[in-house]
Amino acid sequence: MNTNVFRPIKRGIAWGVTLALSVGGVRAADREAAARSGRDAVLSEIRARCAGGGGPKVNYRLFPLPPGAVRPTGWLNDWARAAAEGITGHLDERADVFKHGYGGYHFDAQGVKANGTGWPLEQCAYWLDGLVRLAYILNDPALIAKARSRLDPVVDGVNGGGESFVYWQPRDILVAEMDKANGLFNNWAHSHMGRALVAYYQATGEKRILDALVKVYRDYPLPEFQAGFYPVNGMVNLDPMLDTYMMSGDEAILANALGAIRRPNFQKIVDQWNGGEISHGHTVIFYENVRVPALMYPWTGDRRLLDATLMVLDWAERLHGLPMGLVSGEEYLAGIGATRNVETCNVAAGPWTFHWMLRVTGEGGWADRIEKVFFNAGPAPIARDFQTMSYYQCPNRLSMSMPVDRPKNPSQEMGDSYSFTPIGHPVLCCVGNCNRIIPNYIIGMWMAMADGGFAATQYGPCSMRGTVADGVAVEIGCETAFPFQDEIRFVVRPEREATFPIGFRIPRWCRDPSLDVNGQAVESKPDDMGIAKIHRSWRSGDRITLRLPMHVEITRGTETPYPQDKYFRKRSLSALTEIHNPFACVTRGPLLFALPIADGGPNEPVKDAVFSYAIDPATARDAKVVRAPMPAHWSWELDAPIRLEVPAVRFDWQPTELQPLPAEPVAAGKPAAITLVPYGCTKFRVSMFPVAAE
Ligand SMILES: [Zn+2]
Repeated sequence: MNTNVFRPIKRGIAWGVTLALSVGGVRAADREAAARSGRDAVLSEIRARCAGGGGPKVNYRLFPLPPGAVRPTGWLNDWARAAAEGITGHLDERADVFKHGYGGYHFDAQGVKANGTGWPLEQCAYWLDGLVRLAYILNDPALIAKARSRLDPVVDGVNGGGESFVYWQPRDILVAEMDKANGLFNNWAHSHMGRALVAYYQATGEKRILDALVKVYRDYPLPEFQAGFYPVNGMVNLDPMLDTYMMSGDEAILANALGAIRRPNFQKIVDQWNGGEISHGHTVIFYENVRVPALMYPWTGDRRLLDATLMVLDWAERLHGLPMGLVSGEEYLAGIGATRNVETCNVAAGPWTFHWMLRVTGEGGWADRIEKVFFNAGPAPIARDFQTMSYYQCPNRLSMSMPVDRPKNPSQEMGDSYSFTPIGHPVLCCVGNCNRIIPNYIIGMWMAMADGGFAATQYGPCSMRGTVADGVAVEIGCETAFPFQDEIRFVVRPEREATFPIGFRIPRWCRDPSLDVNGQAVESKPDDMGIAKIHRSWRSGDRITLRLPMHVEITRGTETPYPQDKYFRKRSLSALTEIHNPFACVTRGPLLFALPIADGGPNEPVKDAVFSYAIDPATARDAKVVRAPMPAHWSWELDAPIRLEVPAVRFDWQPTELQPLPAEPVAAGKPAAITLVPYGCTKFRVSMFPVAAE
């Protein structure tokens, strides 16, 4: 053990200044050309590894592209720029955790240990992971300089003799037996920095970053896995480890991963999950841990591993699924209800798991789930100008006091879980994690296909640039206001005429898709993975139009009691062991719709808003679609480009903490019509509606 590798950087050095000059000194075009060739090389390396010796036993069908290969345009670019100019680009100016985190020295903040490890490692790494991805996606010099100034000390620290991504300290601090105070936690937080460094390498192709990843992950101390979703667990390092293996081919890394899952304890957990023996726990840990067995499925060919993950995801969705596409989490899995919450950390963690499931299985349905989260749960906890955010969101946020913010543990007593503030909450996980939501979506919009072309996997306005398998560079522009419109128009620009396949994910909610090339209809029937492929010779300027007609759908369900976990005992609603309140939700394509309660900002609902409506599932399906032009600048305003006019019933409704929805279908009321907007545009709303009696 070399104890001299921990070389603290002096506090007070102006982060980023020198690097900003050197990065700024390189012409933007040169920097972009270097990054582009780096990205192409990284992707070729991964493809070669997976196709040749040392590849997986079950082949991947889809490979993610490096940050920067897909650039947002249109409304998505407006939102990504708001992040760059808001929280993502300036979080270090708002809290010490982000100012000093990953500096390599101790500082005062909540949850910091004497050796400088602890909570800020996790919180700051979330931010850095989002920051480095967005920086290269937008090719933004200031963001790139800031990300490099934070990540380079870690890379250099490891290459200079360090052993981990936790301030490049000796790896003993990752082992619970060696660092009793914090070994488990450090190991978990380490995985988040591992992901940030994987993205940094993929975006730049700089070998020194890969060297650091290989050095740390080849004999990384993976801990014993655990069946329940508490406490945190360092096995989640498997995802950056597998990426590092695919990029480097260093066999010690794969051997390390395979060794960890051969342990009897791991195999026992896989059997338990497959047998439906699953216990409740913390939702962030659930989303992180649940993917672990599936990650190893391609490398073992052992179908039990994939099935274990699928079993637990399905279990959670059934018992805790909320209409914005995620399971509830008031720290812990919290059942189904109009005032149950989604922690903003899970708006990042959930789609990251679904993205890995898309990679592992090639099944397009996972991208359906990512879109549902991104377009609904994504914008809800973030202010329209991206300057403030909140820790929780819930289906029915009616006012500043409903749902009631109930302190449940000492850390939450310090702050409010629903108010929008520059850091969201004194516990800084969510304000770190909210920066990952947009870049991870953009990176996943296109993926490389195993047979050489590219697939459009998640929709929205963007442009993609990559190299098809035989070395021809191609750019594909995608012009659309999806999901606010049904039509998506692509222009293909290969550098010379070339033959390759382009795939298009057909969402499961779409019953009658259509595809045409230069005005001629082509086959739009998806394959067994939900992808429709066009394989032909492409010339620059070829146009493809994809139409994904959307229909209004009504889903019904009933609220459920909280899991009887002592964690919830301070919430009065959790004392009820019987809850069957019926509800109905309105969706169209990937969008969840809500009755908006107008606001003057995310903490300013209008007074006396009327929201006392029930909907009849049989008639609500006849909703009328009302369209308005897309605004010149997109900010998720209530004045939405698509609205639904829905028949409803007005009735006397006084929701309370213990009775968030009526216990029975509403029999008495006056017919009315209500206008719904996308859930993501609202800050106060009803999206789990009382049900009208037929
Ligand atoms: Zn959080």
